[in-house]
Amino acid sequence: MTPAAVRGVTVLDHPLIRHKLALLRDARTSSRDFKQLVGEIAALMTYEVTRDLPTEPVEVTTPLETTQGEQVAVKLALVPILRAGLGMVEAIHQLIPTARVGHIGLYRDHDTLKPISYYFKVPTPVADHRFLILDPMLATGGSAVAAVARLKEAGARDLALLCLVAAPEGAATFTAAHPDVPVYVAAMDRQLNEHGYILPGLGDAGDRIFGTR
Ligand code: URA
Repeated sequence: MTPAAVRGVTVLDHPLIRHKLALLRDARTSSRDFKQLVGEIAALMTYEVTRDLPTEPVEVTTPLETTQGEQVAVKLALVPILRAGLGMVEAIHQLIPTARVGHIGLYRDHDTLKPISYYFKVPTPVADHRFLILDPMLATGGSAVAAVARLKEAGARDLALLCLVAAPEGAATFTAAHPDVPVYVAAMDRQLNEHGYILPGLGDAGDRIFGTR
């Protein structure tokens, strides 16, 4: 059964993404391959996510003559949510080497279960950048909601969230909190389990990327 669509969430459905997702989900996939696949899927998603980037004309001289080309006319900032988001940065940065990279660290308070920000460093001037927030898993939505709130507090106005796999519950929580922030996912899964893991999911993305299982 296909999970219900969540308004504000775009599922980037592509044969290569579906193929790589199946490999990513497989419990037998090694940590090395998992990391590679996370990067590849993130890069494929970036192709679509950046489709509306404004460009400006630029003069370029070929070995034969001068012509007009285009260059991206917006400052981009990639912001992984630590730790699993780190797995998506490198591949996207290779596609967009001029992007700056920020980091947001969040942990969940044991008593309140609320996400607490322990690290926040992003490119400035904040209001001049388009932020791509990276987290492989949109599970309960708590971290993504808090990360975007922190970025907005710092002055960010142009944001998008990129996740590989989302749960409908987390996607709905996120879009309710930040209806102005588009969300792009490679797959919308069925549900969360009682421990906050996505089903069918792919397990703990951070542990699988960094081999800490
Ligand atoms: N974080 C993960 O890494 N996996 C899940 O399934 C949910 C949250």
